[in-house]
Amino acid sequence: RIIEPDPTFPSLEKALKHFFGYDQFRHQQRAVIERSLKGKDALVVMPTGGGKSLCYQLPALLRIGVTVVVSPLIALMQDQVTALQDNGIAATFLNSTLPPQVQRQREQQLLSGDIRLLYVAPERLFNPGFTALLERLAQQVGISTFAIDEAHCVSEWGHDFRPEYRKLFQLRQRYPQVPIIALTATATDRVRQDIVQQLRLNDPEVYVSSFNRQNLYYEVKPKQGKRTYSELLAQVKTLLANQGSGIIYCLSRKRVDEIAFRLSQDGISALPYHAGLSDADRSTNQERFIRDDVQVMVATIAFGMGINKPDVRFVIHYDLPRNLEGYYQESGRAGRDGEAAHCTVYFGYGDVATVEFLIGQKPDPAEQRIARQQLRQIINYAESAVCRRKIQLGYFGEAFAGDCGNCDNCLHPAPIEDWTIEAQKFLSCVARCRERFGMTHIIDVLRGSQKKRVMELSHDRLSTYGIGKDRTVEEWRSLARSLLHQNLLEETTDGYPVLKLNPGSWQVLKKQIAVNIAVPKRAAASSPAADEP
Ligand code: ADP
Ligand code: ZN
Repeated sequence: RIIEPDPTFPSLEKALKHFFGYDQFRHQQRAVIERSLKGKDALVVMPTGGGKSLCYQLPALLRIGVTVVVSPLIALMQDQVTALQDNGIAATFLNSTLPPQVQRQREQQLLSGDIRLLYVAPERLFNPGFTALLERLAQQVGISTFAIDEAHCVSEWGHDFRPEYRKLFQLRQRYPQVPIIALTATATDRVRQDIVQQLRLNDPEVYVSSFNRQNLYYEVKPKQGKRTYSELLAQVKTLLANQGSGIIYCLSRKRVDEIAFRLSQDGISALPYHAGLSDADRSTNQERFIRDDVQVMVATIAFGMGINKPDVRFVIHYDLPRNLEGYYQESGRAGRDGEAAHCTVYFGYGDVATVEFLIGQKPDPAEQRIARQQLRQIINYAESAVCRRKIQLGYFGEAFAGDCGNCDNCLHPAPIEDWTIEAQKFLSCVARCRERFGMTHIIDVLRGSQKKRVMELSHDRLSTYGIGKDRTVEEWRSLARSLLHQNLLEETTDGYPVLKLNPGSWQVLKKQIAVNIAVPKRAAASSPAADEP
């Protein structure tokens, strides 16, 4: 039995108003929907909260057959279906948590053509029972579209790779006539290409909306050992000023527990969230945060996916985010309501060493390479003197003209100094070490370190040994990073990073060009908001 499509509406706007009560389309919703109604493939890239769901929900109501939505998060699935049902839209979901009799009842509804949207988890799609149901649906009711939500999960380059997603191309194989619409908030070109390829999209139109979140203020603060906690405490106090809420992300469970405990001791209403807590504790803590029962959630990145709390006023990364993509998603949990919100990263080289160590533990060299590249991108973000928004959007392939006026680098530009002499010292040390070593070693040699490795290589006999004692490790690192940013030095991207000279380096060494760098931020001079309480 094939059900008739809903009465044709004189315009898509009327349909939008009728089903969802909205007056106009956002971003590229209209274009996507028109495309979808023609039965063609599309890839929709919109930031979180942009309104992706509507892109397949509205066509689902206007086309014949059922739209099958693949969504990785069971909790989210339930919310979406409830929201649709509250709007009077016939939607349902199937997952492994349902009692058999509810399951059967839903299958019946589906097969009688009463349902317009079916949500399903990817791991379920290919179990035999579901495959059979899908087949009957296709025969009896028709499948109008496969909508693949969180489509970046097919890509190892995304921030949330899920192996089950790799099987989704089978949908295309089995139902070549059914159009596919893929949706994601992950916009790097790499991930986009992966999605198109993995899902076997057929000549898809790609719709990309702007990722700029104007209301978010971005900043990076130096992380300086024991003082960092008191900075954090002061910052949290200022940001909360007795109202609102925020998230503090840490890398390890241990750190989460420690910070949550210390904040509580210091009078901040804070709870921990990480995978080491029991399911019950996790959901209680999350509930309390959402209900504004507690103001600060200290969490690993396990927290936040699929949580829609619009009034989060700050997201602080107490440890270095894993990569820029993840950072965009995590920081993006602030200010969903469009009001001003604050995003801070605490950055120190100790974290870089930790992450490098973790990367070294990964068994797969390809994975290591990706992780190293991503680490370098986040370091570049943290160290740069350029507008933070510009860097983030640039990473997503989006050009941002001028300065944003809403990040630390735009509001408090670092003073520029001539560091030509230091640059010459550094580059000649790279040359003396025969362009075979990484940054840490070069700095060790410059600062006259007695480390075993330096001695064993007899690098204490180089003419550049100890000529840089007057600068700190951090200053040398900032200089080196700045040389890399300015293309006056190269770093290999395969395996362990090694510094190499390039034509720009030689121009510096031959005194043909001067080197100006943004003076490295020191804790004392850097952050006005971080005054001790
Ligand atoms: P995403 O999946 O892209 O994160 P959602 O689809 O959940 O975003 O949409 C975010 C919010 O915006 C939802 O509350 C949704 O109802 C609302 N929304 C979507 N489209 C429109 C529109 N055209 N006008 C007003 N609100 C919209
Ligand atoms: Zn800026």
